[in-house]
Amino acid sequence: MIRFFNTLSGTVEEFKTLVPGKVRLYTCGPTVYDYPHIGNYRAYIFEDLLKRFLLFAGYKVFHVMNITDVDDKTIRGANQLGISLQEYTARYIQAFFEDIKTLRILPADVYPRATEHITDMVRMIKGLLEKGYAYYKEGSIYFSIKKFPAYGQLAKINPEELKAGARVDADEYEKESVHDFALWKKPKEGEPCWETELGPGRPGWHIECSAMSTRYLGPQLDIHCGGVDNIFPHHENEIAQSEAYYGKKFVNYWLHCHHLVVDGEKMSKSKGNFYTLRDLLARGVDPIDLRFFLLSTHYRKMLNFTFENLEQAKASRQRILDFLYEIEHRKLEPGSEPEITSLAEKALADFREGLSDDLNISSALAAVFEFIREINNRLARNAVKQDDREKILNTMREFDRVLAILPEKKEETLPPEIMAKIEEREKARREKNFALADAIREELRQLGIILEDTREGVRWKKIK
Ligand code: AMP
Ligand code: ZN
Repeated sequence: MIRFFNTLSGTVEEFKTLVPGKVRLYTCGPTVYDYPHIGNYRAYIFEDLLKRFLLFAGYKVFHVMNITDVDDKTIRGANQLGISLQEYTARYIQAFFEDIKTLRILPADVYPRATEHITDMVRMIKGLLEKGYAYYKEGSIYFSIKKFPAYGQLAKINPEELKAGARVDADEYEKESVHDFALWKKPKEGEPCWETELGPGRPGWHIECSAMSTRYLGPQLDIHCGGVDNIFPHHENEIAQSEAYYGKKFVNYWLHCHHLVVDGEKMSKSKGNFYTLRDLLARGVDPIDLRFFLLSTHYRKMLNFTFENLEQAKASRQRILDFLYEIEHRKLEPGSEPEITSLAEKALADFREGLSDDLNISSALAAVFEFIREINNRLARNAVKQDDREKILNTMREFDRVLAILPEKKEETLPPEIMAKIEEREKARREKNFALADAIREELRQLGIILEDTREGVRWKKIK
């Protein structure tokens, strides 16, 4: 049985899909006004872990992730540079797609862009006006929260605190200022504007997600995700809009990951305490070490970013890689040991059980390391045979369907002592000790390994 913590109920619930075997998943995508920081990637990697686990558990997953290419922040950015919104957002959309590939995040089935779905938003706003949930005020259209008595259910806002009638135009605001929020914003000097049946203007951020999620997934979704900062006002407003319009429960399971923090503060653009993936690659960080770091803490716990913590994750991933190398290259005696099959089965069952418990990654990883320990013990006493090799490798590949941290199949691997040399050279380069770095490069060249320094970090190849 799979269980998830549902923000809506505040409890861990058994997971049941609307249609057996199929999951309709919506995750709030990037607002493309800048390069995403690694806090954003904590959210996307948590969602990737969730999706990969659902696939591993045998579900078909239809995943939609929107791209917010028009909102307060993108408009401000384009205006500052004096270029069109499209030109401005294009580079960040491209960067986002490059980054998710680098981090081995599985692509969504659809990436709808807000600017390409204005008609869907207009249709929905029109319906909300007709049903009496929305009203015009000085050329803009607002959602009236007092018309929707369930408002506040996700963010646990006391209905008495609702300031019905007061209005807010900004896309983002604090809980202390719950207000009627803008669905459609009247034209403003320097802002893009669409001529529509509602009148001229542009959409608010929240209606974008309601319109695009239901456009591709229907009025009811199984899972909707984001970071905890999305709970209010964004997801609360999505519920209000979608449920008022369709008259049906919008989302069955709301899953939110906690923040990546730096010194106890949320990593964010506005605080200036952030690293982008590019910043880290430039420092020689292996993106898959970063992936492992971001996924190896439970998604509902705060995760503190330090280079020391990143190093720890790297070391722990290296233990897995060393084990893999050992299994691939060790000389083994012919035959097989029946016990290996039961160890592999148990490890996979424990791994699955851990993840079934609200994505308990610590217990899933414990199953991986326990398996490695058991096999290493047997290797030490020659109790692993040739025919066991493939079984062990297959088990590691099964884990990796979810974790995605092993070298990709086509990649060759290097022995751990050579990997350590490469790492030593990286460290020397970081410390600007170029004499040592060059000496190590030459030493490796003598051994038939050529190093190349690329934007994504160091690459190696073997001389044939
Ligand atoms: P944005 O592009 O700001 O809309 O954010 C994209 C996603 O990243 C949302 O799901 C946010 O909740 C999430 N997010 C933003 N900052 C952090 C952080 N420091 N830690 C984890 N998730 C974050
Ligand atoms: Zn959204």
